[in-house]
Amino acid sequence: MRRDLTPGEALQTVLERTPVLGSETVALPEARGRILAEPIDSSRRIPPADNSAMDGYALRRADAEGAGAEAPIELPVAFEVPAGAATLPAVEPGQAARILTGAPLPPGADTVVRQEDTERVGDRVAIRVEPGAGENVRRAGEDLNVGDRVLAPGCRIGAAEIGMLSALGRGFVPVVQRPRVAILSGGDELVEPDGDITGGRIVSSNSYSIAAACHEIGALPCYLGIARDTPEDLESHFRAGLGADVLVSSAGVSVGDRDYVRSVLEKLGCALVFWGVKMKPGYPLAFGDFPDAHGPRVFGLPGNPVSAMMTFEQFVRPALLRMQGHRRLHRPQLEVRLGERLAKKPGRLHFVRVTLAREGDDVVARSTGNQSSGVLRSMVEAQAILVFPADASALDVGDRATVQLLDESFLAAEAPGFT
Ligand code: AMP
Ligand code: MG
Repeated sequence: MRRDLTPGEALQTVLERTPVLGSETVALPEARGRILAEPIDSSRRIPPADNSAMDGYALRRADAEGAGAEAPIELPVAFEVPAGAATLPAVEPGQAARILTGAPLPPGADTVVRQEDTERVGDRVAIRVEPGAGENVRRAGEDLNVGDRVLAPGCRIGAAEIGMLSALGRGFVPVVQRPRVAILSGGDELVEPDGDITGGRIVSSNSYSIAAACHEIGALPCYLGIARDTPEDLESHFRAGLGADVLVSSAGVSVGDRDYVRSVLEKLGCALVFWGVKMKPGYPLAFGDFPDAHGPRVFGLPGNPVSAMMTFEQFVRPALLRMQGHRRLHRPQLEVRLGERLAKKPGRLHFVRVTLAREGDDVVARSTGNQSSGVLRSMVEAQAILVFPADASALDVGDRATVQLLDESFLAAEAPGFT
């Protein structure tokens, strides 16, 4: 087991040991938000045939040559082409056909004159503007041809992709599986949210914040409850989660007398890969897996509510995204300026919970206040996590720093950007 890794080393170690899951087939509407597992090539031409981009008249351009407001050219309207017409008569030389938007271009015609450039007189039409060759015709295959690569594996399926897949007639879609995450908490002091907190008991909030964080990225949490601080109870809870893809516990992973997480995991055959990451909050993080990948990846998160959320954020979240086939595993980042001085001892990297404000061309970050690992309000108020590098001891007002953006709505605008 390795000890005292930097956050970068710990993340790299976790990701190296976290493969992308296999694929499954889901119905098209359920594919939204999932990652495509296989390439999608077009089996169709879209549009399937040349068709009209306008309501107007289909004709041979040669028959409208020289048309103008002063010298309109009159043609007989031979027939009408409705949208969705299957078989069509031909437009003969010297004829026009009434055509509606999206309707297939009848044989013989090569151009559509928009209705606004014509005048209908009984069963004849006067062309008042000379059309360009092929004007207002959408060509067959203009969007896609048979065999075109439409979507690449690894692409995230959003509304546009759902629309494209449905246009291709794909009722079912191959996507990467979602990881099942077994979650348990350990501690004699813990109760469920509706429990009795007299006598210094506290609510096991970690189980719920971690499950919610799983949901937010499409992973499937499964809550195993609270284990008492005995090796036996902890073991039976861990056993219940061995069938999951990822097992996340919180607390009992430090050096206290009743911190049995690491010894119980080893008894169950889990190989601890590392323990201890030089960061604050969240130093006592344990990570392990099972030989030949026959069990879940195991994260023993620290118990303090901010430490649990922060270690989830920095290590478990990217691992779960990777398992689902995401290519970009990390939060959006911004360069900010410090709005107040921050100081610490050099040695560990600090993940500082900050609020953000736009001030002129800068985004300015300020601490949410008390940064203790027990103060969950710092996470509630945080719009971003500021990376305070390990070897630094102070960041002064105006200094630059990088933040991980937690609340993307910070970038949302109050005005539409057009008038
Ligand atoms: P431990 O690692 O067991 O020493 O726990 C560290 C701190 O985290 C203690 O103050 C615990 O009460 C607190 N804690 C442990 N588990 C949870 C939990 N599930 N939810 C909220 N706080 C917890
Ligand atoms: Mg404890």
